[in-house]
Amino acid sequence: MRVTSEYFENERYSCRSCNKILQEKQVNTETWRCDACGKKLLIDIGKRNKLVRLLPSEMTEYDTVYDQYTEKLHELKGINSKGEKYIFGVKGYRGISVSEDEFVNCMWNDQ
Ligand SMILES: [Zn+2]
Repeated sequence: MRVTSEYFENERYSCRSCNKILQEKQVNTETWRCDACGKKLLIDIGKRNKLVRLLPSEMTEYDTVYDQYTEKLHELKGINSKGEKYIFGVKGYRGISVSEDEFVNCMWNDQ
């Protein structure tokens, strides 16, 4: 499973609250938030669900992560932090380890 952000082909970015489409060079990849309003940017990768990129500290156990290998969404079964690492529980997988500074591809859910 790979849930941290490598980019997908043909990503398109928008901010829903500003109702604005952003060009790639306008995207703040330090935060993956809209510079104007601070909301998370929606990332359209050509699938039904839109993604957002969240730091582990911005996530809750109700978030759903996107596995770029299988192209499937997985609900979390809990998050534990250990030093600079976060461990996500995902049904059917061993704990998934993510560094605190890695962005995780999650399903957009009005974050
Ligand atoms: Zn905005």
